[in-house]
Amino acid sequence: MIIDISLLAQKILNKRYIKPKNKRHVRLFMSNKDNIFRNIHPMWKEIARSLRRSFWMHKGLSGECPFCHAQSEPGKERFLIRFSSNGSFLGYNCFICTKWGKGSRGIKDLVTNLGLKISFFDINSMASNDDSLGGHNKTKSIENNLDDEDDLSPIYWPPPWINETDDIFLEGFNYLEKRGILNIANKIDMYGLKFSTVIDQKNSGSNLRKYPCILAPFAKATDNEVWGWTSRRLNDVGRPSNEPKSIAKSGRGWKSTSMFGVRELDINKPIVIVEGLFSSLSTPNSVAIGGKQISEAQLNELASLESGLYIFALDPDVKPSVYANSIYQLRQKVPGTKVLNVNWEYYGGVERGDPNDRGEEEMKKIIVDTMKGKY
Ligand SMILES: [Zn+2]
Repeated sequence: MIIDISLLAQKILNKRYIKPKNKRHVRLFMSNKDNIFRNIHPMWKEIARSLRRSFWMHKGLSGECPFCHAQSEPGKERFLIRFSSNGSFLGYNCFICTKWGKGSRGIKDLVTNLGLKISFFDINSMASNDDSLGGHNKTKSIENNLDDEDDLSPIYWPPPWINETDDIFLEGFNYLEKRGILNIANKIDMYGLKFSTVIDQKNSGSNLRKYPCILAPFAKATDNEVWGWTSRRLNDVGRPSNEPKSIAKSGRGWKSTSMFGVRELDINKPIVIVEGLFSSLSTPNSVAIGGKQISEAQLNELASLESGLYIFALDPDVKPSVYANSIYQLRQKVPGTKVLNVNWEYYGGVERGDPNDRGEEEMKKIIVDTMKGKY
């Protein structure tokens, strides 16, 4: 493929690693850092002393990578040991040498590399998800019922197996343009959208297959962590008939609890609820629920934001009666809030077309008209 790298594209390539800045994130991250420090196994503080130039941050511990010696600094963490807010060890990962590890095996690798001697007993309790350090793990029986162990903890974003070449980045950029998405460079930065030539439905990178795609993170509002992702194949022209248009991370648990765009919402503006990724990218201040049905857990996530106004803008083929119950529940969960739905049937006399077909400018108008109660 021959691609003309324009000045614009070059600019985008140069700035695409810039992280979004959002005041709400900063506040949550600060408290999360304290939480982690309070709850982790004490041996992790030993690791912190052995890790060169280490520092604590909202997701855990960063510092020089003990495997490739890549340097980290706040805002530019190359090597990261991640913990959940209850202090559970989630895994570590290096952006530069891509070395990663989780569980007691991962800890053993890390500890050996740092030249520390830690007993098997301690390594096992460092790896344990248990809050009470060494006791019985209360959540074990629930966890065992889930299909995929990757569902039990947030994932690192982007996944370590991603192969984002300049070619695939430009192909993805063009694809978004073709779908009528506006301010593409901003949205790539803001949402952490990724492009990859390959995909692995697990998170391990052990089952890679060729699949040129755009990848979008699904997160929770309550912990600001990424729990899953969906992807869209970029090139339909070359798509073999047995190749799906879309592939999502394996497991089911993350799908019913997380949403696309939930971390990036401005909670002082109306929160719009749409079905899919491209609808969300075409609708201001929206989240994608990843389907036509919103789950109880997703409703709870939205309720935790305590917005004064939620607007359902699911695709026009969803009858209002189908999500009337969700609207009712959301009103119950957030006392005093307003929950509206876009009345597609009467809007502009054009029934067809999901938010992505309408485009961002028209969606803005539809949201405002819905707020004003006119169709
Ligand atoms: Zn490294």
